[in-house]
Amino acid sequence: MKWFNHMAIAGATCAVVNPALVPVAVLGATAPDWLEWIGKALGRRVKHRTVTHYFVVWLVACLGAWPLDPTGIVTAFCYGGLTHVMTDAMTVTGVPFGPHSDRRFHLFGGRFRTGEPAEYGIAFGVVAVCAVLVMLLSASGWYPFFYDWAGLYNSGVIDGAEWRANRFRFF
Ligand SMILES: [Zn+2]
Repeated sequence: MKWFNHMAIAGATCAVVNPALVPVAVLGATAPDWLEWIGKALGRRVKHRTVTHYFVVWLVACLGAWPLDPTGIVTAFCYGGLTHVMTDAMTVTGVPFGPHSDRRFHLFGGRFRTGEPAEYGIAFGVVAVCAVLVMLLSASGWYPFFYDWAGLYNSGVIDGAEWRANRFRFF
């Protein structure tokens, strides 16, 4: 899958849960690919979509980091990596399930090839659903971690113009 779509899917889904961590999730969303370059730079031959694309490794890292990670930064990074391998798993090539298996792992039948319109469609669908969720959740007062612009305005810390300029800026 293209980086653009990896980043869109990780960023949008992360925004629903914690908008502040979107940049980390987006960085993690490309990690399985750029970790291959780092491996190469360090002189190890890394075949595309092998070691850095183990589904199990990202899943365990993400779930394992969660309870130990009060900032959520490591979890968000691993979550981004997990979405990367999961969406790569929807392509024809698939991803390896884990270190002890050569079998390719596929999600939803692994039907499309990287760069085909289908992956943009999937990314767009995910972003659209997440955008609606974010709107619903922010309308209902969810997101304790959002900047409380309205509250700052009411308590006189910022003036009206600043509030208007920032009320839709969530990061
Ligand atoms: Zn990849």
